[in-house]
Amino acid sequence: MVEAIRKVINILEQKPLKGQITSVMFCDGNLLPSSSEELEVLIRKNVESCLHITSSAPMGGKNDPKAVVDNKGKVYGLNGLYIADASILPDVPSVATNPTVIMAAEYIADQIKKNY
Ligand SMILES: Cc1cc2nc3c(=O)[nH]c(=O)nc-3n(C[C@H](O)[C@H](O)[C@H](O)COP(=O)(O)OP(=O)(O)OC[C@H]3O[C@@H](n4cnc5c(N)ncnc54)[C@H](O)[C@@H]3O)c2cc1C
Repeated sequence: MVEAIRKVINILEQKPLKGQITSVMFCDGNLLPSSSEELEVLIRKNVESCLHITSSAPMGGKNDPKAVVDNKGKVYGLNGLYIADASILPDVPSVATNPTVIMAAEYIADQIKKNY
């Protein structure tokens, strides 16, 4: 996982992502350390299993520091980029994820069609 995180950081440091990322931090607020030993400690502290992988780009209000998209799936700070998949669910839903994603995607597609 240390190696995987280093690879992801390497991707983030390439254009066009470079410059879009202001900081990388763990859920507990710790910033990414430079040493692999410290990184391993933070991975062990933060990693957890999850039945459904959702919510990596959560929907939320403008002032929510964790929000990546608004309630129409539009990515904050970018024009013309919408996300319509399980990543925008604010949390893992207590119901099946598949129909939840389909419902959200159809709603977002309708909103996009209304605007263009
Ligand atoms: C084994 C298993 C069983 C499950 N059982 C259920 C269940 O019984 N009921 C239920 O409700 N949910 C179930 N789920 C969860 C449900 O399938 C997912 O939550 C849901 O499909 C997530 O939708 P998504 O659009 O976010 O991602 P996905 O459905 O994974 O769709 C992502 C899509 O993006 C495409 N893609 C990936 N990378 C790229 C790229 N670079 N460029 C273009 N396209 C790309 C992929 O090909 C894929 O079509 C199950 C999941 C798994 C793995």
